[in-house]
Amino acid sequence: MVMNMSVMNKSTFNDHAAVMKKASECVADSVLHDARLEVRKAYSDLIVDAAVPEISDISVSFDGTWFTRGHSSMYGVGSVIDLLTGFVLDYTVMSKHCYRCMIAKRRMPITDFRVWYAVHAPECDINHEGSSGAIEAEAALILWKRSEQYGLRHTTILSDGDASTYKRLSDEKPYGASVAIQKEECINHIRKRLGTALRKAVSEWRTRGCKLGGRGHGTLKAMTIAKLQKYYQKAILDNRGNLLAMKSAIYATLFHSISTDEKPQHGNCPVGTESWCYYQSAVAQVSYGDKTVALGVRRDRGRVVKAKLRATKKFQHYRQAIKSAKRRLLEAAKRTEGTTYKAGYF
Ligand SMILES: [Zn+2]
Ligand SMILES: [Zn+2]
Repeated sequence: MVMNMSVMNKSTFNDHAAVMKKASECVADSVLHDARLEVRKAYSDLIVDAAVPEISDISVSFDGTWFTRGHSSMYGVGSVIDLLTGFVLDYTVMSKHCYRCMIAKRRMPITDFRVWYAVHAPECDINHEGSSGAIEAEAALILWKRSEQYGLRHTTILSDGDASTYKRLSDEKPYGASVAIQKEECINHIRKRLGTALRKAVSEWRTRGCKLGGRGHGTLKAMTIAKLQKYYQKAILDNRGNLLAMKSAIYATLFHSISTDEKPQHGNCPVGTESWCYYQSAVAQVSYGDKTVALGVRRDRGRVVKAKLRATKKFQHYRQAIKSAKRRLLEAAKRTEGTTYKAGYF
């Protein structure tokens, strides 16, 4: 009896848990079966002039979620998601721990345990004995090896930046030596990497006595880094499938950002009135004589003036006043909430 309630004993609880596990697996299998059929249909719909192959090569993303962070987790689950439809195709639970083995080891001598284990082995929870760090790659390998059973080959993997999974799959070649597995990078991770590299550069140069960060105009402050990341991502997304144009667009954002009145560097920026580059857009709008450059430079100066204004004490006081007014409003709202929704109010 706990807290005036009759609770079931441990073995009854375990029996119920086992029944629920079986039922959930049954439902999961049926959902996965339907999802795979849909994915195969989606890929065969893409084929117009040729026969639909028995096994489709598809692009997937793979990731694992583990019980604890870092490289000490005892169990977790790895799953594969199709990129075209967004359906989960398969999953596998990885475990370095088996509760029943642990109890049996405690209760019986080793010779008896060996006999017991021979019977228990097919249903033992342990399916990974190496380091916890390699558990994700191991999960991927299990999923890749059995994908052909349901008519799909995961030949392109969208990576989350963890190189070990892709390396393991490339080394093991689950579909034979002639089928290579391609890797694609996630744009969000690429963008994040640029931010990390820029922040690292700021801190590294600080230790060398050179100040790149700070608050003034033209410094690599957090907001500027976020802006550069956004430009970088846009340059990649807008030029999908054209590597040269992508490279040029990335350089354009870099040169555009370091451009000054004395040294305008908008040569790589896209031209035309619709250009995101204010300089090139101005050039396209007024395309005669010295006025073209004059307009571009004037806009550049306008930005500098605005940035300087934002850095003045008066402007900062004004922003401070707005911030504290907002804070006061929020606190007042919280106080009201505290009085309105007292315990037992509903
Ligand atoms: Zn076991
Ligand atoms: Zn520009």
